[in-house]
Amino acid sequence: MDYNRILGEIATEVEPLRGEGRLPEYIPALARVNPDRFGICLLTTGGERFEFGDTGERFSIQSITKVFSLSVALSLIGEELWQRVGKEPSGSAFNSLIQLEIDHGIPRNPFINAGAIVVADVLLSSLPSPEADYMDFLRRISGDQTVDYNRKVAASEREAGYVNAAITNMLKYYGNLTNDIEDVLRFYFLQCSVEMNCRQLAQAFLPFADRNRRFEFGNVSLTYSQVKRINAIMQTCGFYNDAGEYSYLVGLPGKSGVGGGIGAIYPCHYSVATWSPRLNGKGNSVMGIKALELLTTYTHESIF
Ligand code: GLU
Repeated sequence: MDYNRILGEIATEVEPLRGEGRLPEYIPALARVNPDRFGICLLTTGGERFEFGDTGERFSIQSITKVFSLSVALSLIGEELWQRVGKEPSGSAFNSLIQLEIDHGIPRNPFINAGAIVVADVLLSSLPSPEADYMDFLRRISGDQTVDYNRKVAASEREAGYVNAAITNMLKYYGNLTNDIEDVLRFYFLQCSVEMNCRQLAQAFLPFADRNRRFEFGNVSLTYSQVKRINAIMQTCGFYNDAGEYSYLVGLPGKSGVGGGIGAIYPCHYSVATWSPRLNGKGNSVMGIKALELLTTYTHESIF
């Protein structure tokens, strides 16, 4: 497949969308990034890299971190996790509170904020040094020791994080958090604040696509079946209440974040990362979604 030519065509075609969408104003530090960016990087399981645009510039991975925190939680406590979090698409906004009350404190899935906050609680209870251990995993899976948290972004989000604080309080009320509310929130925001560029993100998603190598990074290891299940949850829950539309348009398991990034995989073939900060009304990158839609359209490659 001539991915080089295809990425070039995609870049030309998404260009008119550059001014469309908005930055996430509810996170002050992210509302200040330069919105006029676009990058796409594709890594094949055979070791080839294809890229276009701003692929070396770091951005806040935000909710994409939920794929990595779920991986660590499953590696630590396995199936036990599903007693505290569901695996159904929510059909609601990423920070919805209403559903959590209806479901008595059991979040619909680990990729909405409530679910990821429970996962953060699991990591806090089970990792010997949660912050350092989580970062160690991210550096290993992305193959880059310079990957790091952005503590300013985390602090900015905490300052304005009223809804996430409400979610965390409700989880505590229903008995679904073991640790102190403030500790869980702090760790959750820190996980969201991690910065990667498209190359690092594509590398970090490659193990979810590469079914021939063992998923093993330091102390975090997953079975073939666990990776399959994480991919399934990406497919059904990776884009909040846009998950159906994304599935319809793109057809690759993936996860988005309000920093404008998307990580996705074509199982057994490639991983791909896109970044463009302007978001649609559901919190997903406008140019990123279009680029992935064009990728599966031009290549005729998708899981469907
Ligand atoms: N840190 C963001 C929040 O909790 C993550 C949301 C996202 O990336 O979709 O609101």
